[in-house]
Amino acid sequence: MSQDYEVIIGLEVHVELKTASKLFCGCSTEFGADPNTHTCPVCLGMPGVLPVVNGEAVRMAVRSALALNCTVHPQSKFDRKQYFYPDLPKAYQISQYDQPLAEFGWVVIRPEGQEPRKISIRRIHVEEDAGKLNHLGQRLGDATGSLVDLNRAGVPLIEIVSEPDLRSAEEARLYLIELRASLSYLDVSDLRMEEGSMRCDANVSLRPRGYQGSLEDLPRVEIKNVNSIRNVQRGIDYEVMRQEQLMSQGERIVKETRGFDDAQGRTYSQRSKEEANDYRYFPEPDLPPLILEQGFIEQIKNSMPALPDAIREDLRARGIPAKDAEVLVLDREAYEYWLEAVALYPHERTVTNWMLSDLARLVNVRGESYRRATVGPSQLVGLLKLIDSGTLSGRMAKDVLEAMFETQQSPEAIVKEKGLSQITDEGAIGEVVRSVLQANPSVVDDYLSGKEKALAFLVGQVMKATRGQAKPDLVNRLLKESIARDYRAPC
Ligand SMILES: [Zn+2]
Repeated sequence: MSQDYEVIIGLEVHVELKTASKLFCGCSTEFGADPNTHTCPVCLGMPGVLPVVNGEAVRMAVRSALALNCTVHPQSKFDRKQYFYPDLPKAYQISQYDQPLAEFGWVVIRPEGQEPRKISIRRIHVEEDAGKLNHLGQRLGDATGSLVDLNRAGVPLIEIVSEPDLRSAEEARLYLIELRASLSYLDVSDLRMEEGSMRCDANVSLRPRGYQGSLEDLPRVEIKNVNSIRNVQRGIDYEVMRQEQLMSQGERIVKETRGFDDAQGRTYSQRSKEEANDYRYFPEPDLPPLILEQGFIEQIKNSMPALPDAIREDLRARGIPAKDAEVLVLDREAYEYWLEAVALYPHERTVTNWMLSDLARLVNVRGESYRRATVGPSQLVGLLKLIDSGTLSGRMAKDVLEAMFETQQSPEAIVKEKGLSQITDEGAIGEVVRSVLQANPSVVDDYLSGKEKALAFLVGQVMKATRGQAKPDLVNRLLKESIARDYRAPC
């Protein structure tokens, strides 16, 4: 990025609420059903039907707003946003315009090596989703036709609009990760970008150094519906590069909506951007204002779960290094796995180390999630206890953990079946030590003449003879004792 411009980014995040039924009718919201099987006259936009607000959706929206530090308004209202598109049977979307559910929130991001930064949230409003078009053919450009599926039409959404506070693609990524983590603890959404239950539009503009005007007046490009956090980052990076190039050639940036081509890693023009007044918003006549009693909001406030900042604080107090804590906090399943494990085995650091190294690797390689990991918290703890009791060395335990994933057996069963247990019997190890010393007189001489490395070789020989099962610190001690007792330094 050159010195001449500053990157200005604002994000609009749509989050599908996981209510059982749609926002204004009783149709199921289940994902993946046969096309157009979850529809009724209300979500098909038949004339004469009346919408009724789903109370559970409102509750989830309020929970989300509070988790993102917003002020929830006791009164908000619904409006019609009018536009024509085949996935919108009513030709308008019920949304909230000038009186949204909540405003003035924030999310804290932690860019590496910098102070944490507060990113403001302008507003959160409730609205209904549109249906889905399935294009026949490879790409929209050469589609031979399009099929309309209205199962998604009317599914409740919240739209979370940030202020244009973000200054780089990396900051946008951190914002999305933090936002998703906060919402993940609320059970309000699946938050799966690849399934569309979380979607992100990025508004990107470049501000010339010394520009005095309003940010709103900068030519803004909106990148629409990108399907992963990684692609949001790529899309912004590309857009910054493109706009900078145009501006340096003295060209104007056109205010427009652009799509992101995953395969080519570039944005492409879709249409010129609408202004709010193009939508002809007006108050939804079929719905009364949304009035929330103070008691209702208070009750939700009092039932909030622990959120990332409180969890970070708790992990810090329990001695977990900040970097490890961050991994746990940002992945609710990992954090819950951790909580379950430390409840059974209160050595937080040990659990964390095993979880974030060997266990994480195996979970990832096998494409499992922590919640459904083959090796659950109690089995991991069983393994750690075998190390504590001296049955397994740390090295052996790593192998046993792999076998636990492979065979789905308990660590005890694997130890028994493979005859793995660590040899801690001094007599047994002593015998091996004696024969190793007898077989390697010159190495013993080296050691006696001061070569420390020679001892490591002898330890290695004993470990080899016991198939790695001798307890390492015991081998060390017995070797030294035996040499001191039976061998003397050459004169
Ligand atoms: Zn319906």
